[in-house]
Amino acid sequence: MDVKIFQFNGCNKCFNESLLLKLNSEYNVEYIKDPKNWKEEKIETAVLTGYLLPNDKEQVLKIRSNAKKVIAYGSCTVTGGVFALANQHGHEVTPLRTFDNDVIEVEGCLGEIDELLSVINEEVPKKPKKLCDLCTRRATCDYLDEVHRQIELEDEETCFNDLGFLCNGFVSRECKERCINYNTPCRGCKELVERSGIRMLGMFGTLMGNIEVATEHSEKGATDKLADEEDDVTRSLPDILGNFFRFTLPTSGLPKGRIPSSGSLLEDLFSGRLIEELPLITGLLGGEKSISLTLKIIETYEKANQIEVSEQTKRYREELLKLEERLQKAIENEDATQYKEITEEIRQIAGNMNLSNIFFGGFKSQIDDNDNFDDYKTHIFEVVEGTYKNGSVEYSIDSEGVIKEVKITEG
Ligand code: SF4
Ligand code: SF4
Ligand code: SF4
Repeated sequence: MDVKIFQFNGCNKCFNESLLLKLNSEYNVEYIKDPKNWKEEKIETAVLTGYLLPNDKEQVLKIRSNAKKVIAYGSCTVTGGVFALANQHGHEVTPLRTFDNDVIEVEGCLGEIDELLSVINEEVPKKPKKLCDLCTRRATCDYLDEVHRQIELEDEETCFNDLGFLCNGFVSRECKERCINYNTPCRGCKELVERSGIRMLGMFGTLMGNIEVATEHSEKGATDKLADEEDDVTRSLPDILGNFFRFTLPTSGLPKGRIPSSGSLLEDLFSGRLIEELPLITGLLGGEKSISLTLKIIETYEKANQIEVSEQTKRYREELLKLEERLQKAIENEDATQYKEITEEIRQIAGNMNLSNIFFGGFKSQIDDNDNFDDYKTHIFEVVEGTYKNGSVEYSIDSEGVIKEVKITEG
């Protein structure tokens, strides 16, 4: 069977993951890195990865008119993904379904290769399981007294939401990357229900019933606004958009954002996010450089604020950087066997390909059963206002840890 994989904009992690299709000799796979210069021909199965903009429509429709089957692979193509956070600043990251209403969607950041295989093979989809059903933590649904942006790692049994730490597991499907296994709450890259962000916002708001919520009447006299400067929900969780709509802004039903753009989509998607979310975002969208980018962001902050890092943490980080180099070579050579082996090794240290285990000061969960976790575990860190710069990376945060500006240049 002929399968052509097209990489559009942004991160190429899903594109790279599709190398695994080559392990299956039934498929004749071709990789197209530059869809705009693709020479038209008939296709059995077209797989589109990366995020889309309005000016990609023409190319998407060309592919559509030549393909028997079109698959959107990964959250970027399905719902806009993490790049669509820039739509808050007026960008138009657009889900594939807007251009073509006959696409098969494989949601997820990272998109899962087994799900891609299953739709290529036209297998009957399994009924999705709820992520919470597979989580070892248990919810009590007690009202919260406080919202937390970072937690100590001691409690491994209580649901993150009950600890005051937002987890979108309630509205998400079972996944392979399973951030929750690495003390990282789910941010909802695989929706269980439509408009999952709005539903999760409602659920978390309910848990916050003990916390004062300010209301304000509208011009018409009704009370129609929950948030103002005194509102505890937005004060405790300053980035509602990035927390509840990280992958789904264009399909969330929220109106288009009106914050002025800096002119750069990448910078716009980062601004407004929280410092503790930075490694989680670079781990997602950094493509084949996600490890080095994430570590650079983290180490810049650690160095400037004298956050101590253990020797064991340094060793694990060095190992990850070497693995990234090997991974880049495997991708360059389209070597699927090597790709598989190396990504498995990365997962052992970083938790998953979202790098959920990597954080400021150390790692969030134990890497090896024989290790002494105390040697390299992370701790709650202080938010320090300032501008942080290290070569190709520069970012500024305010006193609440909200990112004001990010600049990432090649390197
Ligand atoms: S950001 Fe996520 S969904 Fe988008 S290409 Fe990268 S891994 Fe895939
Ligand atoms: S909401 Fe998150 S932490 Fe809580 S049970 Fe579900 S997946 Fe686990
Ligand atoms: S746990 Fe992570 S990979 Fe799984 S659905 Fe949530 S955000 Fe996505």
